[in-house]
Amino acid sequence: MICIFIDALKPEYIEKTTFLKEIAENNLSGNLEVTFGFTSILPSFLTGCYPDTHRKIDLFDLDQEMKPKTKSRLLINLRLLLKNNRFFFTPLNSEYYKYFKVSQEKAWPQKNSLPVKTIFDILEDKKLISIDWPNIYINRKSKLFFKNDCKTVLDITKKLIKSKPDFLFVHFLDLEIAHKYGTTSNELKEKLTEIDNAVRELAFLDDNLIIFSDHSMDEVREKFDIKERLDSLKLDFGKDLVYFIGSTFVRFWFKSQEAKKSVESLLRSLEEGRIVNFKEYNLPKTCDLIFLANFGTIFYPNLFNTEYQAMHGWDPKIQKTFYIIKNLKGKKDTHIINLLPTILDLMKIKKPKLDGNSLVNE
Ligand SMILES: [Zn+2]
Repeated sequence: MICIFIDALKPEYIEKTTFLKEIAENNLSGNLEVTFGFTSILPSFLTGCYPDTHRKIDLFDLDQEMKPKTKSRLLINLRLLLKNNRFFFTPLNSEYYKYFKVSQEKAWPQKNSLPVKTIFDILEDKKLISIDWPNIYINRKSKLFFKNDCKTVLDITKKLIKSKPDFLFVHFLDLEIAHKYGTTSNELKEKLTEIDNAVRELAFLDDNLIIFSDHSMDEVREKFDIKERLDSLKLDFGKDLVYFIGSTFVRFWFKSQEAKKSVESLLRSLEEGRIVNFKEYNLPKTCDLIFLANFGTIFYPNLFNTEYQAMHGWDPKIQKTFYIIKNLKGKKDTHIINLLPTILDLMKIKKPKLDGNSLVNE
């Protein structure tokens, strides 16, 4: 089984490709709904479960202990490497960093990287390969690689696939450049052609193939200074509440009922977004409230301190991505939690109890 993860694949891109378009037409394909959040999505793919089971929403969570933290990316990642915790990340470049901690330590192919079994745990006795920058995993053995462009990833994959793994997971990150250049730029078009050719080279190296993405990408149309509005409530950050401004949603942790009430009434009066119902999106209660921006609007100043031309992370029921599964037929929209049970069925492996349902024989 080859599993190709094309990051930031917008369904509309498919029409602009040759090979992806062809295999999408001839095999099971459709729009893919993902889970709400950012760091929640891949865990849902890897476990076949919703976020309220694997408990991830975003890269950063509240740090109750407020431990001091270094902002040096090198130092943080060296420390992780020494502990063999290989989920590397870029620290927040923000004065509020001390209130938060990173929500994941282990890379996905590491043993028990999530509270529920991942595909790497389920298939432990098989031959597994994962090429997901900057880690290469062959079963639980890891190696680092430093360039994350399409050609490097393709070359590594072509070399490793010769050992005939039962399951190979490969992640192409190139389409993420739409964040910077937008979804209709020449830069994006070039990368799309490169990815299309890379997939063509890999697609026939195994009988089973699945292609999917973790999110789409859409242009930013409006920016909204939500901090200014929150500041107007004259609440004390750290004492009354803590909040994390991401570009498409803000998460809140309240220290008092009064703070909760005044924030809620402010948010209800704003037209730029809405309060998220946790149950509707199967989210864990790892924060008290989430305020989601309208499609096309982003909040600022976001804690990542970055400017975006295009973005993802809006309502996943609206902003969908794409998937293709070889050897199955039809056109069907589905949810990312259904991909793992489908993979296990195609590999003829007994499924554990999962939130998702297989697309085989549906
Ligand atoms: Zn992504």
